[in-house]
Amino acid sequence: MDKHIAVLAGDGIGPEVMEQALRVLSTVADKFGHRFSTTQALVGGAAYDKYETHLPEETKSVCRSSDAILFGSVGGPVSEMNVPKWKNCEANSILSLRKTFKFNANFRPVKVIPELEYLCPLKKEVVDKGVDILFLRELLGDCYFGEHKTFNSETGVRTATDLITYDEEQIASIAEVAFKAAQQRRKKVTSVDKANVLDASKLWRAVVKEVSLGYPDVVLEDMLVDNCAMQIVRDPSQFDVVVLGNMFGDIITDAAAVLPGSLGLLASASMNREGFGLYEPPGGSAQDIAGTGTANPVAQILCIALMLRHSFQMEEEARAIEASVETTLKEGYRTRDIVRAGEPDQKIVDTKGMADRILEHLLAITVPSAAVCG
Ligand code: NAD
Repeated sequence: MDKHIAVLAGDGIGPEVMEQALRVLSTVADKFGHRFSTTQALVGGAAYDKYETHLPEETKSVCRSSDAILFGSVGGPVSEMNVPKWKNCEANSILSLRKTFKFNANFRPVKVIPELEYLCPLKKEVVDKGVDILFLRELLGDCYFGEHKTFNSETGVRTATDLITYDEEQIASIAEVAFKAAQQRRKKVTSVDKANVLDASKLWRAVVKEVSLGYPDVVLEDMLVDNCAMQIVRDPSQFDVVVLGNMFGDIITDAAAVLPGSLGLLASASMNREGFGLYEPPGGSAQDIAGTGTANPVAQILCIALMLRHSFQMEEEARAIEASVETTLKEGYRTRDIVRAGEPDQKIVDTKGMADRILEHLLAITVPSAAVCG
C-alpha cells in the first residue's frame, strides 16, 4: 500500500520522539511491503519563528494533500511562556487543526500495562482487575463552539454565559464510532452525560439509545458524569468503550490519563467523518526535559500503530508495533519517566535506546506471507 503522511513534529520534545517514531514507520514499511512517504511541516513555536503564526497555510496545505497527519507536540520554551507569541501556541495549532479538518471523534485508549502497575496511583487490587479503556470524545460540539458572553447584568453584576449546543447528527455520528469500536473489543459502551440537569444531555442520551438499536451485540449503559468520575477511580475495570461529549470528555480523559503513570505512554487519534485522522500523544512539549534525550518515545510510536489501524486499516502492522512495545517494557527497559525507585532489574535507556529495543522486537516478529504486500 502507498500512503503519504504529513509530519508535524512541533517543538520541545516533539521532534525528538517523532524521529524515533518515523524509524518504526519505516521498519513497518520494509517488513510488510508498504511505501510510506512523508512531508515535514512546521507547527507551534517552530512555525511561529518562521511565519509569525502557529499554523501556517503551507502546513495546512501539506496536511490536505496527505492521507493522515502525525503530530508531535507544541508549547514553546517555558522561559518565554509569558511572551505573547507563545501564549496560545497549543490553542492556535492543535485546536485550529481540529477546526480546519472538522475532527469530530477523539480516540483516547488508556491501558495499564501489568509490568508498569507500580506507576498507577490506584491500589494494586483495583489495578489487578485490569485497566483497558477506549475513550471516545466528541470534539466539535458542546460549549467549546457555542456562544461565549461576558456582560454586566441590569443590576451591574458582572455575568458570563457559555452556550452548550449539540444536534442529533453530531451525537449519532460519535455514537456510531463508539458502537463500531466496541464490536472490535469487549462489546460494551458506557455513554456519559448529565441528563438529570442538561437538555443537551437528555438529547445525547436519547440519540445514543437510538443508535444502539443498530448494534444488538453491544451492551449500552448510561452513566452520569459525576458517577463516571468516581467509577474511573473506584473500579476502572468495568469500562470498555466510554463515549462522552466535548467538555466531559476533556475532563474525564485527563483524569484517566493518570492511570498508566506517564504521558509518555499514551497515544490519541482525532478523526473526521470522512475517516481522515490526526495522531498525537496527549502530552505537551515537556520543556522540562526537552533537549535532554530522555523523553519517552512510546507515546509517539503508539501513534503510528493507531494511524495504521484507523487510517490505513493495517491491523496486523498496528498489533506488531504494540506487541514490540509491550515486550520491550516487559523486559524492563525504562526511560526516566517510568523508572521504579529501588528496582534493581531495570535497564534505563534514553529516547533512542527505547526505540532501538522496540525496533529489535519489531524486526524479529514473523510476518505471515499473506500479510506482506507485493
Ligand atoms: P506536558 O505534557 O508537556 O508535561 C507534563 C509532564 O509530563 C512533564 O513533567 C513532562 O516532562 C512529562 N512528559 C510529557 N511527555 C513526556 C514524554 N514523552 N516522556 C517523558 N515525560 C513526558 O505539560 P506542560 O508542562 O503542562 O505543558 C508544556 C507545554 O505544552 C505548554 O505550553 C502546554 O500548553 C503545551 N501542551 C501542548 C499539548 C499538545 O501539543 N497537544 C498538550 C498539552 C500541553
